[in-house]
Amino acid sequence: MSEQSSAAATTQCAACHRDNPPSARFCASCGAPVGHAPQKRPYAAQPNESVASFALVSTVMPYASAQSARTYKLAFLIGVAIPIIAVLLGQPSFALVTAAFVVPVVFILYLYDVNLWEDQPVPVVLGAFVLSGVLAVGFTLAWRAWLQSIPGAATDSAFGVFNLWGFLIPNVIVPIVAVILMLVGPMFLASRPKFDDLMDGLTFGVVSGVAYACFETLTLNWLVIGGGTGGANLAVWLPVIVNLAFLKPIVYGCAVGIAAAEFSGLGEGYDGFSGRFIVRTVEAMVILILFNGGLYLTGLLSGTTGLILGMVWALLVAGAVILRLRTVLQRALVEGALEAAAREGSSKWSSGPDDFCAECEMPLLVDAMFCVNCGASVRARSKDARHAHASAAPQGAGDAAGSTGADSEGGAA
Ligand SMILES: [Zn+2]
Ligand SMILES: [Zn+2]
Repeated sequence: MSEQSSAAATTQCAACHRDNPPSARFCASCGAPVGHAPQKRPYAAQPNESVASFALVSTVMPYASAQSARTYKLAFLIGVAIPIIAVLLGQPSFALVTAAFVVPVVFILYLYDVNLWEDQPVPVVLGAFVLSGVLAVGFTLAWRAWLQSIPGAATDSAFGVFNLWGFLIPNVIVPIVAVILMLVGPMFLASRPKFDDLMDGLTFGVVSGVAYACFETLTLNWLVIGGGTGGANLAVWLPVIVNLAFLKPIVYGCAVGIAAAEFSGLGEGYDGFSGRFIVRTVEAMVILILFNGGLYLTGLLSGTTGLILGMVWALLVAGAVILRLRTVLQRALVEGALEAAAREGSSKWSSGPDDFCAECEMPLLVDAMFCVNCGASVRARSKDARHAHASAAPQGAGDAAGSTGADSEGGAA
């Protein structure tokens, strides 16, 4: 098997036929594993993880490096601990408000941290967040009034009685309209040339979904929040906080992120209203219907059984939707790189001279889409990481890249 490679001092990729340096473990063009010891393809946005993983941070925050991901995980843990402590101290309304803002706040910190939209992060991030928030409050007040105008629709479920309109309005009709409202901001931004990358579309979608979920929760629970303390029963409040304040923004954010990424599409420029985008939009609606419908039905069961079943259901849906978004992102990074390799031109995301991997800090080959050492996607680096190396580049043309850079160029000759 290995006889054929004895002549050439390069490792050819079986998937895209690029010649990689002999030490390469992953193809620089398409990220496929190469070399003598075959290995599994890692998750391109975070090579320490496999694609099939429930890791939340590297899914909704693909630009984060392994190091900064630890900070966001810690922030999430603290953010979940605060409302639980507040419930134990008998302050459920304070707990609900803080819990509703955990995911949005950590996410906004991440967007500033990776400097995603360069010189104009404040208007872009706030615009995306506020627009979805305003739409959420307005629409929630409207359908809530509609629900309350139908006898029993708003109240029957509290007594364990199934009400057809009480089920259909909040769990089927509202999710369908809400997904369209959540996509308004991301579609507007992603259609501008500055933000037309798939990663931008995905991030806009997640921001919008997270904001919508946060403000819908606050609007629906406004009476509870205004009503001060009351009975602070942890068994009642813990599932509410975990489901509504923590899992719901994750489910909404991932579902809308999947659809918005498809609006941007793989290559340069945005794809717009393609057939694939419509399929993903329907998929996002189905995810929201399953999530909310399941919570409604488990809520009909009385006592702790219903609460526990509801929490298990919400966790299952959140886990499935995280896996789904990871698969979409992985396929986009790999297919986008293969597409660029087939065109044989350099894509706008590929590495420049004297460029380094943001994950393992090894030098990148020139015009690489993946790190040959760890398999990380060059496209999933923050723009700050890109600029740091771009500004350091002009002085030494090629001597630092030395061994690895020269090998790839020589292999093609
Ligand atoms: Zn390849
Ligand atoms: Zn690397």
